[in-house]
Amino acid sequence: MDLDFSPAERDFRAEVRDWLSTHAPGPLPSMDTPEGFAAHRAWEARLADARLSVVSWPEEHGGRGASLIEWLIFEEEYWAAGAPARVTQNGIFLLAPCLMRFGTPEQRARWLPRMARGDDVWAQAWSEPEAGSDLAALTSRAEPVPGGWRLYGHKTWSSRAAYASHGFGLFRTSGTRHKGLTYFMFHLDDVAVRPVAQLDGLPGFAELHFDGVFADESMVLGEVGEGWRIAMATTSSERGLTLRSPGRFLATADRLVTLARDAGDPALADRAARCWVEAEAYRLHTFGTARTIMAGAEVGTAASMGKVFWSELDLRMHALAMELLGERAGETPWLDGFLFSLAGPIYAGTNEIQRNIIAERVLGLPR
Ligand SMILES: Cc1cc2nc3c(=O)[nH]c(=O)nc-3n(C[C@H](O)[C@H](O)[C@H](O)COP(=O)(O)OP(=O)(O)OC[C@H]3O[C@@H](n4cnc5c(N)ncnc54)[C@H](O)[C@@H]3O)c2cc1C
Repeated sequence: MDLDFSPAERDFRAEVRDWLSTHAPGPLPSMDTPEGFAAHRAWEARLADARLSVVSWPEEHGGRGASLIEWLIFEEEYWAAGAPARVTQNGIFLLAPCLMRFGTPEQRARWLPRMARGDDVWAQAWSEPEAGSDLAALTSRAEPVPGGWRLYGHKTWSSRAAYASHGFGLFRTSGTRHKGLTYFMFHLDDVAVRPVAQLDGLPGFAELHFDGVFADESMVLGEVGEGWRIAMATTSSERGLTLRSPGRFLATADRLVTLARDAGDPALADRAARCWVEAEAYRLHTFGTARTIMAGAEVGTAASMGKVFWSELDLRMHALAMELLGERAGETPWLDGFLFSLAGPIYAGTNEIQRNIIAERVLGLPR
């Protein structure tokens, strides 16, 4: 494998670095507050004006047709510059790949450019009170009515739904378990939204109650009854590549090494160095994944290995930062990072479930 970047890729890195060095804002208020949410949306619009919000999308939808390798380069520069977490991430990283693959041209034209600018912010509405790991157990349903569907049911743990404008999720239209689920998009204005606090006390989640919410025909993504297949394509993006690019962990590892160097404890410094090496290993692995996808292959179940690796690495790095900082941790952004890292083994499919997938479908072990 050629590990060198091409001249065009190096130029792209320089352009992104240069732009971010003058435009990346300092820390913004949490996106789980009204003012923070607005500030993050404004930042997304600035990124979009520079055609940097969705670099790997086609130009017609607001991107610049960059390759996945260039996208990874963008991510490295983005996180190294300390730029804000992406309030649009569920839309641009989870829904958008499905819209591009399964959506109609009208759906793509209607939703993607607005998503790319943060004009619409999308929430993922998959989990239900009795259907988290066992997603196929979901009971939310859609009933056909003239011109569309009425949605009924209860979704939970929907990140950013407290402030987002739209959501996407699965509803039963027929059958049992994986069969007969349909993928719907919907306006959150019409849904009863109840904010739920996360560990930091802020409404990072919401519960969604559907009591006959109307979704017209254009809000169905893909074929009726094909929702499971579409959703599985999303989980592969979510776990395997797009939701957590290595740039995020490389930037954390760099900061951790600096912290450990300043602390002057050789044993802790050794652990920090090990984290850095692991972040670099994940980076190299991800470039390999990107090349696999660019060659036309699917990431498939191997995505579960990446998910377990990045979530546990993030946890290790933040736990070490807590040790290094001691009581001072509360005065630094490391504490928020630590609290969020605790959720890494849970969201995007718990690590217990990922280990089951690796055991059965990657290693071929018996159930
Ligand atoms: C920060 C954060 C953000 C999230 N954002 C969203 C979002 O935006 N949209 C959304 O829809 N959901 C979201 N979720 C929900 C998340 O997807 C679920 O929490 C997750 O899928 C687990 O489901 P559950 O909470 O119902 O736990 P359960 O499925 O009840 O599992 C409880 C425990 O049992 C284990 N377990 C269950 N079944 C098995 C098994 N067969 N083998 C071994 N162990 C098993 C699980 O691994 C877990 O440890 C988010 C969660 C967090 C923490």
